[in-house]
Amino acid sequence: MHYQGNSLEQHWMPFTANRAFKAEPRLIRRAEGTYLFNQNGDRIIDGSSGLFCSPAGHCHPKIIEAVHEQMKVNTYTAPFGLGHDGSFALAAEVAKLTPEAINHVFFVNSGSEAVDTALKIAMAYNNARGQAYRNRFVSRERAYHGVNIGGVSLSGMVKNRETFPLVMPNVVLMRHTWTGEDLFCAGQPDNGGELAEDLQRICDTYGGGQIAAVIVEPVAGSTGVLVPPKGYLERIREICDAQGIVLIFDEVITGFGRMGENFAAQTFGVTPDIMTMAKALTNGSIPMGAVAVKDEIYDAVIDSSPDGAIEFFHGYTYSGHPAACAAGNAMMGLIAEEGLFERSKALAPYFHEAVMSLKDHPLVRDIRAIGLIAGVEVHPYPAPGARGTAMQRDMFWGGLHVKFTGDVGILAPQFIAEPEHVDEMIGKFRTVLDAHDKAVP
Ligand code: PLP
Repeated sequence: MHYQGNSLEQHWMPFTANRAFKAEPRLIRRAEGTYLFNQNGDRIIDGSSGLFCSPAGHCHPKIIEAVHEQMKVNTYTAPFGLGHDGSFALAAEVAKLTPEAINHVFFVNSGSEAVDTALKIAMAYNNARGQAYRNRFVSRERAYHGVNIGGVSLSGMVKNRETFPLVMPNVVLMRHTWTGEDLFCAGQPDNGGELAEDLQRICDTYGGGQIAAVIVEPVAGSTGVLVPPKGYLERIREICDAQGIVLIFDEVITGFGRMGENFAAQTFGVTPDIMTMAKALTNGSIPMGAVAVKDEIYDAVIDSSPDGAIEFFHGYTYSGHPAACAAGNAMMGLIAEEGLFERSKALAPYFHEAVMSLKDHPLVRDIRAIGLIAGVEVHPYPAPGARGTAMQRDMFWGGLHVKFTGDVGILAPQFIAEPEHVDEMIGKFRTVLDAHDKAVP
């Protein structure tokens, strides 16, 4: 159905300036592979894989076919004492990709639900091991863990918190890991590893034995691609081990090949106790997230319950939905058949060189890149975030979709992208930079 006149009014849009959008709608009518097509039929290259979620390309025929076939035979199974084949198959496939010690997968419907579920699993585990007194969560400035109350409580983004004062108490934030010392860095910065000592200070202040869990994005994506400095994640792991603290990696963006390996855990060689994932799990085609946990967590929670009892009283009506599982299983097939992670790894050096070519532009303040994701930060003008918002809009009309967070444009090509697609993205990015450069007095 096509937009007609004031039929835009009824929809309260998420994460969107509603009045501005309705005055100048940006509608996607069709998507195919690396391209989106707007209401004027203009072709727009997708520079952010949608919202970092469609590495196999939009409208992949194998995913469409798998979901279609599933919907013909079973559109719903109640996840309350019942199961269906698709969710078991998908859990087994996901467990093949996670680090060796992580073998149990709980399905949810989004990254936000994955985060809240991970926090509850950490609490259930602490309870099962007789440490329910652990009552404090540790997160980080400039963290993004979704928008549910758990995730917002642990978020370090002011806009996500300031109008929602009644979040969870007992959250302590470490500093974020961007120090400004390694500008225009591809890969892990040399400086800043000592920021992990923030966790040690928090343990010294509150008692490490009181901390329920630490949650970090291995690479903070949504707040502008903040890559962990060398030694940082290793030290966080070491402190958690010493204090018996559950370590959660929020891999909603970094999971499924974005860093070249299966998960960032493998890229950085640091294994968490719990990991969250979503987005690329179904190539963004059907909402789905998951939480994967170490054997000892699963075993403790399951074994500490009396026989016949529900061990973990948590779940959603649509947990492990058959259509989402069909999409997820098709995606797992594509990862192998199309060598998606290998393609991600192979394209990364070309992508880094291309994105770093924007370094010479006077509007560019910093560029941070790792794997197939990069943050291009521009000098704010006239107020923080204003230039980013305007650039995102102008890029759309110039044939490029890029997600901006404040004044950082986040480029994250699909894994099916070819070097010429990267060139097109960077060329169009530069055109808009030039246009905005001229707009500065
Ligand atoms: N966690 C991280 C690290 C994310 O980047 C996101 C979304 O970008 C989320 C959680 C929330 O995911 P969703 O928007 O699917 O709820």
